[in-house]
Amino acid sequence: MSTCIFELDGEPAVMGTAYETTARKQMEEDLRRSEEKYRNVVTYASEAIAVVQDNRMIFANPATCRISGYNWEELTERPFSEFIHPDDLGMVIDRYLRRMAGEDMPRVYSFRFLDRQRRVHWVEMSTALIEWDGKPAVLTFFSDITDAKRAEEERQRLEELLRQSQKMEAIGTLAGGIAHDFNNLLAAIIGFTEIARSRVKESDALSSLDKALRAGERAKALVSQILSFSRQKAQEFKPIKIAPVVREAVKLLRASLPSTIAINVTIDAADMVVEADPSQIHQVLMNLCANAAHAMRNGGGVLEIALAQVTLGVESATIHPDLNPGEYLLMRVRDSGHGMTPEVMDRIFEPYFTTKPEGEGTGLGLAVIHGIIKRHGGGITVASEVGRGTEFCVYLPLSLCAEAAMEVKAPQAPPTGHERILFIDDELDLVEIAGQILKPLGYDVTTRTSSVEALELFRAKPDYFDLVITDLTMPNMTGETLAQRMLQIRPGIPIILCTGFSRELTREKALGLGIKEFMLKPIDYGELAIAIRTILDEQAPAGATDREEFMV
Ligand code: ADP
Ligand code: MG
Repeated sequence: MSTCIFELDGEPAVMGTAYETTARKQMEEDLRRSEEKYRNVVTYASEAIAVVQDNRMIFANPATCRISGYNWEELTERPFSEFIHPDDLGMVIDRYLRRMAGEDMPRVYSFRFLDRQRRVHWVEMSTALIEWDGKPAVLTFFSDITDAKRAEEERQRLEELLRQSQKMEAIGTLAGGIAHDFNNLLAAIIGFTEIARSRVKESDALSSLDKALRAGERAKALVSQILSFSRQKAQEFKPIKIAPVVREAVKLLRASLPSTIAINVTIDAADMVVEADPSQIHQVLMNLCANAAHAMRNGGGVLEIALAQVTLGVESATIHPDLNPGEYLLMRVRDSGHGMTPEVMDRIFEPYFTTKPEGEGTGLGLAVIHGIIKRHGGGITVASEVGRGTEFCVYLPLSLCAEAAMEVKAPQAPPTGHERILFIDDELDLVEIAGQILKPLGYDVTTRTSSVEALELFRAKPDYFDLVITDLTMPNMTGETLAQRMLQIRPGIPIILCTGFSRELTREKALGLGIKEFMLKPIDYGELAIAIRTILDEQAPAGATDREEFMV
């Protein structure tokens, strides 16, 4: 501003007034501009800015209106505490009081802010104590961090899942490792019990032995469950009719479930064929029924098992997003038990999720089922109502090569023979069982518990034996090496390799070495008898005559 100062009677009277008016105007203008600048900052801030006094917002910017869903008048009418989630209110008040009392508190913290629809927003708030109209007030800045919070929760959930799956992997490795030993022990328990049972006449002992056998079978199923969960069990997918598998399972269930539980079975399409591993399908059904039975253990009820054929059209994609439209076998297991809440239902397929007391549930049953069904290209749905019951629907794609379907073997008398068999296993028990089971079938069985000794024996008289059955994992020389040496000595000698668990040797590799059959332990002796007969029948009968006898 240009000024002209001159004296009039010694005072700058007139021009001075003009000067002051201009200066005040300028100051007002400056103030207005500065206020406008601040107002713009506050108005356009993406952060919510508000002043709270006596539990009311006496000032709030548009961002505060946006996050709360109220307009400015409505905002000022509501107590500030109404915007704070009840669970966080105590914490917010406590912090406020302590700051007012002069305590040094962190200025930034987060809490749950409730909007007009009572929806939760996670907000991060920073505060400052100010004076507003001569009274103490709190200036608050808060920003919506809901997305960040959700992302964090999701990250934690994924981390938890990862930990979970690593735990499963560890269990798988462990399970695989012990499976070999454990299966051998089980085979001995079951085998000897079977032998004892076939010799015992007295009824009391018989029923005890039956119980021992049932427990043994359950233990076998458990090992198989653990192994199938860790996916280290050999998969055998072939076209099979499912109805006989279901009937077989129902027989077992009838024997084991209390009479307070009625079992209804409906099989609408007995000839349906699915590419599957029958033992795994059996396991799916047994796991589902075990859960159903558990849900009905107080008060009993009805267990319904149904098999039907269904067509999934394009419209079913919403219920089964993973399933292609087509023909499916539907296996339905329904119970009238206690049912589940939606919260439980959300988690039932998670490994280790169980609502049962320790010792009664592992939380693996449904996780196993889920894995099996996925590997069969199928799907599973569940519906449940608390107090009414639960229904599981398993969908398995129908096989296109139905003609090739095999009936799952009905128990038959094992085939017999008179050939000479060399049986090698480092477990004395297994060797004894094999002898006691194969000899009554007519075979001439020689056994060894040392692979080295067995090889010496074989080298001495390579043409004496018609068939060799050997374990894989043995000290000093593995079954694989033994088999290779024997095949060098006498190419074509039929060998059956038995193994509990093997990462290194697969069925394909074994067959590639010239081994005739690869069997998983625990050995099903009926299957073994069939394999022995089949292999021996395939051998040319030449050379079966004029062999010298010698003592072994
Ligand atoms: P577990 O049986 O060892 O608990 P599962 O994976 O088989 O493990 O089942 C997980 C949980 O799912 C059970 O603990 C139970 O809460 C629930 N559940 C499964 N099937 C049923 C059913 N038929 N009725 C009620 N609840 C069930
Ligand atoms: Mg279960």
